[in-house]
Parts: sequence; C-alpha cells; structure tokens
Amino acid sequence: MQIPFVDLKAQYARLKPEINARIQQVLDHGQYIMGPEVAELEAALANYSGARHAVGLSSGSDALLVPLIAAGIGTGHAVFLPSFTFTATAEMVLLAGATPVFVDVDAHNFNMDPVDLEEKIGEVTTAGRLVPRAVMAVDLFGLPADLEKINAIAKRQDLLVIADAAQSFGAEAAGGKVGTLADVTATSFFPAKPLGGYGDGGALLTDSDELAGLYRSVRSHGTGDNKYDIVRLGLNARLDTLQAAILLAKIEIFSDEVDARRKLADYYDTRLTQYVATPPRIEGAESAWAQYTIQCDDRERLRADLGEQGIPTAIYYPRPMHLQPAYAAYGPGEGGLPISETLSGRVLSLPMHPYMPEETAERICQAVINSVAG
Ligand SMILES: *Cc1c(COP(=O)(O)O)cnc(C)c1O
Repeated sequence: MQIPFVDLKAQYARLKPEINARIQQVLDHGQYIMGPEVAELEAALANYSGARHAVGLSSGSDALLVPLIAAGIGTGHAVFLPSFTFTATAEMVLLAGATPVFVDVDAHNFNMDPVDLEEKIGEVTTAGRLVPRAVMAVDLFGLPADLEKINAIAKRQDLLVIADAAQSFGAEAAGGKVGTLADVTATSFFPAKPLGGYGDGGALLTDSDELAGLYRSVRSHGTGDNKYDIVRLGLNARLDTLQAAILLAKIEIFSDEVDARRKLADYYDTRLTQYVATPPRIEGAESAWAQYTIQCDDRERLRADLGEQGIPTAIYYPRPMHLQPAYAAYGPGEGGLPISETLSGRVLSLPMHPYMPEETAERICQAVINSVAG
C-alpha cells in the first residue's frame, strides 16, 4: 500500500463543509480580486503570528521579491543568503537585479551560519564592488534560523533582514513566533507547506507600518492612494480571494495540525535516533515540521528500500544553490561552502503531515531500521 508523502485529502475530508462554504461565499459575492476574505485572512495571520501587519501575496516567491523592490534593492547591491535552500531565495535576489552572496549553513541546524555571514559581509565590503543591503535567512524544514545573531550582525552593518519562512509559519524560537523575528518575514501557502492553500499564495509579516504600506503598494502595481496614481515600480502580486477563503477555513485548525506534526516528529525521533542522524532541534525553539529530514550514509540504498515498500521520500535539496548552473557565476565553486555540499549528499525527507496514523509511522520507522541496520 502506497503511503502519501503529504496527505491533503485527509485534511479536506476533515474540513470539507467549512472549505466548501467559504468557496461558495466567494462565488456568491464575486469579488475575486482583493475581496473581503483577503483582509480577513491578513487579520488572522497577524493574530496567529503576533506580527502587527500581514500582507497577502500571490506566492512565497513574490513575498521574497516584494520587500527587495520596496527597499530599492537592485543593481550593485549584495544580498546574503544560505546556499542550502530552495531556488526561489536566490532567484528573487537576481530578479530584483541584486547580486546573491551565498553563505554556508550550520551543520547543527541546517540554517545560515552567522559566523560565515559575518565573514562574507567582510569580504564583500573589502572587495568594494557591491554595497551590502540585505540578509535573507531561511528557516529550513520549518526550524527558525538563528535570527538573534543574524539580526545583531545585520544591525551593525545597517542591512535589512528578510526571513524566508516559506516552510516555517507556525514555528517559534526563544525570541518569539515566526513573523516577529526579523524586520520582515515572508511565508508561502503552496499546498504542501505547513499552512497550504489549494494553489499558490504567500504573505509578508512585519511590525512596521511603513513597510506594510509599501508592500501593499508594490503588490498592486506600485499604486498610490488613488488606484491610477503609479508612485513606484510594482508587480501584480496579489493573493486571490479564493485562496484567502480556503486558508481562512484551514487556519482555524492550524495549531492543531502543527501539534500533530510535532507528535509525529517526536515519534520518528524516538524510534530512529539510534539508527540515523535525526533532524536538528534547538533549545527553546519549536519547528513547524514542514519536513522531517534525516541524514544517512547510503541514501540511494535507503531510498530504494523504502520505495519498494510504498514509502515515498524526497531530497531537499540535492544540490546547493552555489553549484546550480543558473547561479554558479555568483558562487565560490565546488568546495567553497562545504557544509551545504555535504548536507546535499546526505539528507532524506520522510513522509510528514498531520494525518498519519501511528501504524503508518511505525511501518516507516521499521522500514528505515531494516534498511540501515539490516
Ligand atoms: C516554497 C519555498 C519558497 C517559495 O514559495 P512559493 O510559494 O512556492 O513561491 C521560497 N523559499 C523556500 C525556502 C521555500 O521552501
């Protein structure tokens, strides 16, 4: 029997009446662009995270691009980001016209290494070709990056901190909830993310009234107070009313779902910790468990063994960004960011979602144990 990697059907079965009613309301009022559900969802996101403002956007990728455009970051500017991430983090820096500077990650949490960040800022400053402007820290697999240290470094250098929380909405660190840990936090509602819609969507979270206002303008073609005053360069990056409506039904049960993910992660940890390197944990922090990612020596064999038993796995990410053909020109080349390179060869993500029965979790653990210990 094939096990799902992410079970969106089980979630729909639970929420069917609520989701269908929400969709029907949109069909009835017909305000498909910036309908009332968008503001309602923004209020719910701000309330959930504790951020003062939430701005709904068309995707997590756009949620990374909008703050760069709003800050006037572009040609001649350096943006620092981890190499071990999803492509969008680097892609949006380049689409803004800025130059990505890849930073290695910390082997203990898979996130941006603050020591290497400081070193890379120093190198760019010494070279004098680019002006350092921003840091994009990624909360990989749902675990918040070390934003206390990153914010302190950024503050000394007057850099904007954008947290790429595409995978970590619902997580928290010692310093607070995701959404309140950086100048601005970008998240994604791609269906497989912890809070996922039924299509693309994203949001920005910030405490700054000024930034929130700029983001609302940039997401709607750079409009001013009047719809036909174009006061800055912008985009069409609005969140669809229908996606907002679906997310409103889902956010009602979201904290329940995050708890279920945490329980599954704890179960995996207990069963697997003797056999494979289980995911990083940080004192005082709680991951949103977008992924449960182990490290193993013979990944191909484990993948094949699990696949034969109907257990899907995924590799996030098989190649760090500084070695991707599209970005290699900006990277230090092979061997330049050793932790990112090592992790890319060792990580394997197991099925993770809030609706997995314990028997299924046990079947997965047993298969992992048989493969690595057998
Ligand atoms: C998913 C993801 C994004 C992009 O989000 P989309 O909504 O798919 O555009 C950006 N960064 C990271 C780390 C992601 O995992």
